[in-house]
This record gives sequence, structure tokens and C-alpha cells, in this order.
Amino acid sequence: MAHPQSIGILEKKFGNRLQQQVALHNYATARVGGAAAWFVTVRNTTELADAVQTCWDDNLKFFLLGSGSNVLFSDEGFDGLVILNHAKKIEMKISGEHPTLWVESGASLGLVARKAALSGLSGLEWAATVPGTIGGAIYGNAGAHGSDMHSNLLLAEILQHEKGKSIWKKEDFQFSYRSSIFKRHDESGVILSATLNCVYDDPQKIKERMNVFSEHRRRTQPPGASMGSMFKNPPGDYAGRLIEAAGLKGYSIGGVKVSEVHANFFVNSDQATASDIYDLVQHVQKTVNKEFKVELELEVEMIGFNQTANNNKANHGKASI
Ligand SMILES: Cc1cc2nc3c(=O)[nH]c(=O)nc-3n(C[C@H](O)[C@H](O)[C@H](O)COP(=O)(O)OP(=O)(O)OC[C@H]3O[C@@H](n4cnc5c(N)ncnc54)[C@H](O)[C@@H]3O)c2cc1C
Repeated sequence: MAHPQSIGILEKKFGNRLQQQVALHNYATARVGGAAAWFVTVRNTTELADAVQTCWDDNLKFFLLGSGSNVLFSDEGFDGLVILNHAKKIEMKISGEHPTLWVESGASLGLVARKAALSGLSGLEWAATVPGTIGGAIYGNAGAHGSDMHSNLLLAEILQHEKGKSIWKKEDFQFSYRSSIFKRHDESGVILSATLNCVYDDPQKIKERMNVFSEHRRRTQPPGASMGSMFKNPPGDYAGRLIEAAGLKGYSIGGVKVSEVHANFFVNSDQATASDIYDLVQHVQKTVNKEFKVELELEVEMIGFNQTANNNKANHGKASI
């Protein structure tokens, strides 16, 4: 691929942080995926906005990557720029009646929750053991233990193509179960930072609640390389229950296996490829549909695939946001 003009501009801005042919399996919790044609790590929201704007100005395809815990990159990789978000600043406002946390979007959700807990800020206990960044969590309305980002988010700073920067209220994201206006592709943009609301509580009590959640996770979820829940739970049921009832617990294709511990987790147990995972997704969807007439919808996003396993709206080969 010829070097677009934006690559020269990014080279000047980021020096040797702009790399070529970077293996994406090192940046995805499933540990699969080919190479990114170009790859840059941004360290703060100014750099993030700068990199994204440069891509928009020059029409360069890009993908914004958090912790890679909810994406499946194809074995062919990504033929544009992957921007790895390491904008991680966390500031707490611990005064007055309503304490808040201001966080850059590349901050780790778990770390934010644990820092809040140590300062006696409650509300994020559910998030302490959920992998990912704040940006990824807002994008997909991550949640666990009866709560989610929708409950915590107050405001976020957004960058959009042609519209520039603006502050969004939580309502603007139109959150639904594991989704948002961005994940549905009804709007596009990049989350730069967020303000989260909390309430005061005894740090010891917060810690105890976190321990209960963390213990529950250890008991019910498998260790190893995965993307967490592969499918959303269909209304009134559980994807894991349906997959198990279809007799698919332990079923494997290539190096990936439907977990014996939790059937909605697909674990890369033996050097799986992205194609193995894709094939397993299709097999599970078909089998569950045949058995129960239920269409399992992917929670995970597939990047760089041309196929149609994803019945989310238009996520294949998803490029610039
Ligand atoms: C073991 C395991 C357990 C899990 N448990 C849970 C759970 O309990 N609950 C739950 O909800 N999820 C769970 N997940 C899924 C995952 O943790 C969440 O979806 C997480 O929020 C993804 O964040 P990320 O930074 O890894 O996003 P990525 O996977 O890097 O990206 C996901 C999407 O978000 C977009 N994105 C990322 N940052 C931004 C930004 N700043 N602005 C705009 N778009 C952005 C990306 O472009 C991509 O489209 C689990 C995953 C694993 C591996």
C-alpha cells in the first residue's frame, strides 16, 4: 500500500512510536489476529485527538483500540492505522456532596474502580474485574453484577468528524444492553475522556463487595485467552445456557474451544487462529438456531472479516470511527 500523506504527518508527530506491520495478537485478549499495516500508541487525549483528526483529514482508515478485550481481528489483520489508546490520566474530585472521577478514555476500567475504592468512592465495584478501557466500556456499555457504564457515566468529551469536540451527557449515548449509539453505528466518534459519578462509602465495605464479585467471577468464568462473553444474552434467556443445552460445551474447532466452565466463553486453548474462532461462532449460531430457533447476536466485534457471522449492524471490516 502506498504511504498516504497522513502517514508522513503522523511520522513527524509520533516519531518511532509509529510502527509498521505490528502483530495484533499481542494487543487482543483472544491472542489472535494478523498485523496492522500501521500502528501508533497515543499517551494522552491531545495525541489521541491529533491522530484521529489526521486520519480523518486524509481519509486514512483507522481503528481505535483499547485493551482489545471485545474484538476479534481477522488473520489478515487490519490494512489501516491502529491507534492504541494509552491516555490514562485519572483525577478524583473528592469534595462536596457529589464526588466524581475524571478519566481519560484509555484508563483501565478495573484500575479506576480500585483507585475509587481506596478513596472511599463507591459505585464502580462491578467494574473492578472487568477487563478493558473506559472508552471501550462506554462504547459497549460494559456491565456486570447488575450494573453498567450507563449507571456510572455523567459526561464524556467526544471528538467527531467535522463536528469537532463536544461534551455529551449520558443520555446522548442512548445506551442499551451492551450497546450504545456508537456501537450501533448510528453515530460515530471517539471518546476522549469521561466524568463518572460515585457516592461516598466506607473503603472496607467497598472492598468487601469487590471481593464478592471477584470471587464469583473466579468461580463462574474460565481462565485463559478469550473475549469474555461471545454473544449477548437473548431476551429472557442466557446465551451460555442455550449453547450448553445444544450440547456444545467443550466443542472445539482448531485451537479454540467452547469453555467447559461457561459455554458463552470461547477459549483459545491451543494456538487458535481467528478463522478457528470465526468458524466456531458460525457453528454455534447455526446449532443454537436449529435447536431453539434463537439467533445469537455477537457481543464481540469482528474486525477485518468479510463474512456475515455478525448480526450486529455492519461491523465487518469496521474501519474509521
Ligand atoms: C475475560 C473477560 C471477561 C469479560 N467480562 C465482561 C463483563 O463482565 N462485562 C462486560 O460488559 N464485558 C466483559 N468483557 C468484555 C470487555 O471487557 C468489555 O467489552 C470492555 O469494555 C472492552 O473494552 P476494551 O478497551 O478492551 O475495548 P476494545 O476491545 O479495545 O474495543 C471494543 C470497541 O470499542 C471501541 N472503542 C474503544 N475505545 C474507544 C474510545 N475511546 N472511543 C470510541 N470507541 C472506542 C473500539 O474501537 C471497538 O470498536 C470481558 C472480556 C474478557 C476478555
